[in-house]
Amino acid sequence: KTYTKDEIRELVKTEHVEFLRLMFTDLMGSIKNVEVPTSQLDKLLDNKLMFDGSSIDGFVRIEESDMYLHPDLSTWMVFPWGSEHGRVARVICEVYTTDGKPFEGDPRNNLIRVVDEMKAAGFTSFNIGPEPEFFLFKMDENGEPTLKLNDKGSYFDLAPMDLGENCRRDIVLELEKMGFEVEAAHHEVAPGQHEIDFKYADALEAADNIQTFKLVVKTIARKYGLFATFMPKPLEGINGSGMHMNMSLSTAKGNAFYDADGELELSETAYHFLGGLLAHARNLTAVVNPIVNSYKRLVPGFEAPVYVAWSGSNRSPLVRVPSARGNSTRLELRSVDPAANPYLAIAAMLEAGLDGIRNGMTPNDSVDRNIYSMDEKERDTNHISNLPDNLHNATKALQSDPVMKAALGDHLFQSFIEAKKLEWASYRQSVTKWERDQYLEQY
Ligand code: GLU
Ligand code: MG
Ligand code: MG
Repeated sequence: KTYTKDEIRELVKTEHVEFLRLMFTDLMGSIKNVEVPTSQLDKLLDNKLMFDGSSIDGFVRIEESDMYLHPDLSTWMVFPWGSEHGRVARVICEVYTTDGKPFEGDPRNNLIRVVDEMKAAGFTSFNIGPEPEFFLFKMDENGEPTLKLNDKGSYFDLAPMDLGENCRRDIVLELEKMGFEVEAAHHEVAPGQHEIDFKYADALEAADNIQTFKLVVKTIARKYGLFATFMPKPLEGINGSGMHMNMSLSTAKGNAFYDADGELELSETAYHFLGGLLAHARNLTAVVNPIVNSYKRLVPGFEAPVYVAWSGSNRSPLVRVPSARGNSTRLELRSVDPAANPYLAIAAMLEAGLDGIRNGMTPNDSVDRNIYSMDEKERDTNHISNLPDNLHNATKALQSDPVMKAALGDHLFQSFIEAKKLEWASYRQSVTKWERDQYLEQY
């Protein structure tokens, strides 16, 4: 729903809103907040609210630091939880430069640009249904996170065993109050791990939803003395957390991936999109698995993908075609993890698919056998390649791909690669417990 400025002014009064939380997302996917009292409302509505961009990761240098926030009024939402100082409303903003242009380093602006490209190609929306997973850890008496899990539950356990279950229910209720349509919420395979799936939305709204979702999960968890983390692999030896992305394109006629007469009831468009997604799968990995820790999840044995392949039936490959058809026809990319900046991830997936459509790409044959039981030679004969196995290799793959450069735009592409190289360099210098355990006494 979009609101007029007057409707917003009215809502501030009737809902007793005292503070406005202006949200945007930095390069790394962290939510940034500029909070102002409602006395600044008119300024905000006139796009005149300024902030210092040089303090934001991956934004700009000191000498060009003034930036403006333009609120997207359709994202207006009053947080259901109050504060002792009155209620807080959030509005998601686009970042503009002092000469009135959308700032190219703003991941949200960039997604808007890529969505416009998609519209020029004849599609009306890129539907994204995310499946974020996360862990709930206990906090210590100082409110610091520990690595202690609080439950023994596992996948689809029904008994309300613990705090974690109650906490997750509360999260779902809060989300619903905020207008989310939660389609599934369950305990995941690992102890302490949960998943909440909400209804698909068009690219931009889906990315906004993911950011809001993370905020709600962390906020409610705290009320229970728990710490929620979206770190992809917080504990070794058990499953990590993914954020599978279900995706489809629509035209004015409906779901463009569905064709009752197509093979597997998929349209040509779906196959071309899939071809593009697979062709760029290695190169977009740095965007959808953006941190050193992401690659600790992408290993065999924990339900996370390792190889580039697709299947219409098997759950293990990188891209799966869930069985629903008709309007729900979709592809599911299973590599994405919740550390991904959703604006960048969605832009990269969309650009990869559009490239497949533009160039009439076709995917290799589907692989319906268990890839993990194949040896390297068998994988080679089946044209199955590996995903990058660490952030360094993923960043190199990203850097080599002009289509990914087009997906992120020059500014974000450069600053992302620069940041990831620094992150890798810093990690390379760390000496880990694993190394001491292995080598200290042996040498
Ligand atoms: N937690 C698994 C992962 O790392 C996914 C489990 C599932 O299929 O939902 O991707
Ligand atoms: Mg799951
Ligand atoms: Mg899934």
